[in-house]
Amino acid sequence: AAERAQPWARFSPELDITHNQDTLELLAELNTALASNQLSLHYQPKICLLSNSVLGVEALMRWQHPERGPIPPGKFIPRAEHSTLIDQLTAWAIDSALAQITQWQSMGIQLSVAVNISTRNLLAPDFADTVLALLEKHQVDGALLELEITEGAFMLDLDRTVRELTRLSNANITLSIDDFGTGYSSLQYLDALPVSVIKVDQSFVKSLSKTSGSYHIVKAAVDMAHNLGMQVVAEGVETKTAYALLSDFGCDIAQGYFIARPMPADQFNSWYQDNNG
Ligand code: C2E
Ligand code: CA
Ligand code: CA
Ligand code: CA
Repeated sequence: AAERAQPWARFSPELDITHNQDTLELLAELNTALASNQLSLHYQPKICLLSNSVLGVEALMRWQHPERGPIPPGKFIPRAEHSTLIDQLTAWAIDSALAQITQWQSMGIQLSVAVNISTRNLLAPDFADTVLALLEKHQVDGALLELEITEGAFMLDLDRTVRELTRLSNANITLSIDDFGTGYSSLQYLDALPVSVIKVDQSFVKSLSKTSGSYHIVKAAVDMAHNLGMQVVAEGVETKTAYALLSDFGCDIAQGYFIARPMPADQFNSWYQDNNG
């Protein structure tokens, strides 16, 4: 009987220590990864539903571990978010994204890049300064940079978040709400924050059809966003049916496997040549 697991037994000190050691080890390895080129960005195109042209890309982080192979962001980002390492990761991602924008410009390609921002990044006192300094370093127009923020991020300190985001928005950086419809009190923040894009969460988009429950939700989200003067991105577009419906709804931008998967820069470049001519 003593060995039967109680609900609270999951929080026993031993397990907690194991967990912490695991996390500490991963964070140490991630630190090494940052310093030794194991991280990269993959790029997934965003398509304008009116013109069918490529407007920009979302940058998604990839970690190629020398022994363990590829580790998906869902495995390491949440753990990095428990430490200040996430600030370095985000700065690295923005730095790399801006370098990529410059490289595309030298090839005559004008694309915006969206980088994912973690809740914790907005609490760093120098977040806006860091981003603005990186724009300065690369001499890139803020209008080519987009920051995707999840709703949870706004909850922590709204006044401060508004102040930081306003500085970024004043530099023409596009701010978007990621995973829209899945967070807390989504609607409360739409008016308070200087955001201009909502990304409807893929859970509503994946199985979109005329008879699916999501149909009215997505349609309403598009109308609401437009009434607020915002643009809408649908992510997780996996089927032709979803793509066509979104186009009917007047949704602005589509992103998903139906169009293309996230790709390393080289592969993206050949995809772009084949698909934007
Ligand atoms: P997210 O920001 O919501 O990114 C979209 C995720 O959906 C990506 O997974 C993308 O590969 C995947 N996806 C895109 N189109 C489709 C589709 O049609 N069907 C399906 N089933 N999936 C699709 P990924 O790359 O594994 O990233 C997962 C999450 O990790 C991201 O979700 C984001 O929250 C986080 N993440 C990734 N890169 C970064 C980063 O550089 N910084 C931060 N803070 N978070 C990141
Ligand atoms: Ca995102
Ligand atoms: Ca998302
Ligand atoms: Ca997400």
